[in-house]
Amino acid sequence: MQHIYLDYNATTPVHPEVFEAFSAFYREKFGNPSSIHWAGRWVKGAVEKAREKVALLVNCEPVEVVFTSCGTEADNMAIKGVAAALRERGNHIITTRTEHPAVVNSCLYLEQQGYRITWLGVDRDGLPDLEQLEGAITDRTILISVMYANHETGTLLPVREIGEIAARRRVYFHCDAVQAVGKVPVDFRGENIGLLALSGHKICAPKGIGALVVRKGVKLSPLLHGGPQERNRRAGTENVAGIVALGKACELALDAMTAESRRIAALRDRLEAGILAAVPEARVNGHRERRLPNTASLSFPGAEADSLLLNLDLAGIAASSGSACSSGTLKASPVLAAMGVEPASIRGAVRFSLGRETTEGEIDSVLRVLPGIVERLRK
Ligand SMILES: *Cc1c(COP(=O)(O)O)cnc(C)c1O
Repeated sequence: MQHIYLDYNATTPVHPEVFEAFSAFYREKFGNPSSIHWAGRWVKGAVEKAREKVALLVNCEPVEVVFTSCGTEADNMAIKGVAAALRERGNHIITTRTEHPAVVNSCLYLEQQGYRITWLGVDRDGLPDLEQLEGAITDRTILISVMYANHETGTLLPVREIGEIAARRRVYFHCDAVQAVGKVPVDFRGENIGLLALSGHKICAPKGIGALVVRKGVKLSPLLHGGPQERNRRAGTENVAGIVALGKACELALDAMTAESRRIAALRDRLEAGILAAVPEARVNGHRERRLPNTASLSFPGAEADSLLLNLDLAGIAASSGSACSSGTLKASPVLAAMGVEPASIRGAVRFSLGRETTEGEIDSVLRVLPGIVERLRK
């Protein structure tokens, strides 16, 4: 059976050149970058090279990059770290109802600790109202946390506008850019972002490596206490191989971004157009223009997502009902609910997310089997 992987927003296969770049760091180049002897020196330079490559991809300075164990840690570090550092100044955080669980649950945790959270709603396209956002800011507001691109629908949030509001009102802006980095241009400096989370395994690096970009001067308490690694921002001996891999993945993503986003968007459009033409009442969720090139969220009212995914899996096709974190339980998507999507369309929502190894032949295979599956399940 042919295996077709269309769940790149959950995780990606490691790029062969990334694998090539990092595998040596588990054997010959095994040193601790803090050691001053040869073994340490052999790896210290590689960590700093990788930092430069991450910085180049998101337009920040290398010293602003703090390596973490994953995107989730970066989100936790940004939100809890700012909350702890600015506790004297205020206790109010503004976010949206469509964030990833790493942000949602960090904010819920702080809510239990006595912080006040404003949960902004979104419109049918998944966009928050910017006047409402600015109106929510008080002199107790310490952080705005809004994602760059939504993991379920691919909708791009108005990051530049939010960055302007945050700068004007002197509030820190954290942006979970895990789904955007490597897929669309992200401009940390130009978009006035104060803190930015990214993750390796969403951009063809291995699992277990991520980064939080922290603008110079931003006050942030560390989550982990220990050694002075990462300029005292994140203690713990560096995941050298992971860091090297992330650097390589960023370099490759930057080189390929223009061509790849065009190629992948064309495949995504082919998939969507084919499905809309063949499946009655199918509809696309999220903003139709302001979105990632690789993501298609489609609703098939009258069919259930878990049965759809099971049948697709039987045909060798891996897709998702939304965030991988909730697909074990298949709870109704809070993202689509916040957008005001009808319950039947939420229950029948499937996310296809394409990537580097996706081919036209694979898309056509999906188009051959999917309409029949939906028709059978609706009966
Ligand atoms: C995957 C993801 C995360 C979490 O990243 P991990 O490296 O898997 O912890 C955070 N935010 C978004 C938007 C994601 O898609």
